[in-house]
Amino acid sequence: MENLTWEEVRDAAAAGLPAVISIGSTEQHGPHLPLATDCLIPVGIALQAAEQVPLVVAPPIRFGARSRALSGGGETFPGTLSIRGNTLVETLKDVLIALRRSGFHRLCVQNWHYENAGFLWEACDLAVEQAPDARILLIEEPWPAFSYEELVELFPGGFPGWDVEHASIMETSIMLALHPDLVHTDRIVDDEAERHPSWDVVPAPPEFVPRSGVLWHPSVATAELGRRFLDAAAERLADALRTEFKL
Ligand SMILES: [Zn+2]
Repeated sequence: MENLTWEEVRDAAAAGLPAVISIGSTEQHGPHLPLATDCLIPVGIALQAAEQVPLVVAPPIRFGARSRALSGGGETFPGTLSIRGNTLVETLKDVLIALRRSGFHRLCVQNWHYENAGFLWEACDLAVEQAPDARILLIEEPWPAFSYEELVELFPGGFPGWDVEHASIMETSIMLALHPDLVHTDRIVDDEAERHPSWDVVPAPPEFVPRSGVLWHPSVATAELGRRFLDAAAERLADALRTEFKL
């Protein structure tokens, strides 16, 4: 959408196309991936889904909720630029209302940055209060329900949990598939927090934060795995759009 003219946007909206907006972050992704990773990946998924269902890819929201040590490395890395939950809710609400005013009444909010998830539903609910003829599909996490066998194939060496999938196997693989020119393969390191309990502590103890900013083991990432992840996420997005918007 950001490369279209206003007349093209008017016509796309008038044709009933859904607008898919990705909510990402500007956040450290280890020594090998760019800060824009959490925006590039969901936009790539939406562009791939657009090959299956007609849709408009709206400009992503590039700032996300505060990074947590155990899922994003935390706020101490240079280049991690976060906003408060309140700001995120207000920003997304305003953009959704603006999309409705632009003519789109089928809207899809697709999250990528783990920490955003809890704020997005509220923004959608507030937007619909002001734009009651909008219908919003909210995709808080991008994956279909993988079977145990699929997880074993997708995560050589074992599935570590989605929360540590930060700059790790899945994100690195998808970036190798989408933007190999932006992946510094010679700088890939495997890392993990010294301690990763099932609760959180504020402020984060230093042993929650891996020095590299990598939360697991990206050395086994491949472009081929990346394409499998992309296919799964794009297929699920297309399926949700078809189901909810009768496309
Ligand atoms: Zn990420």
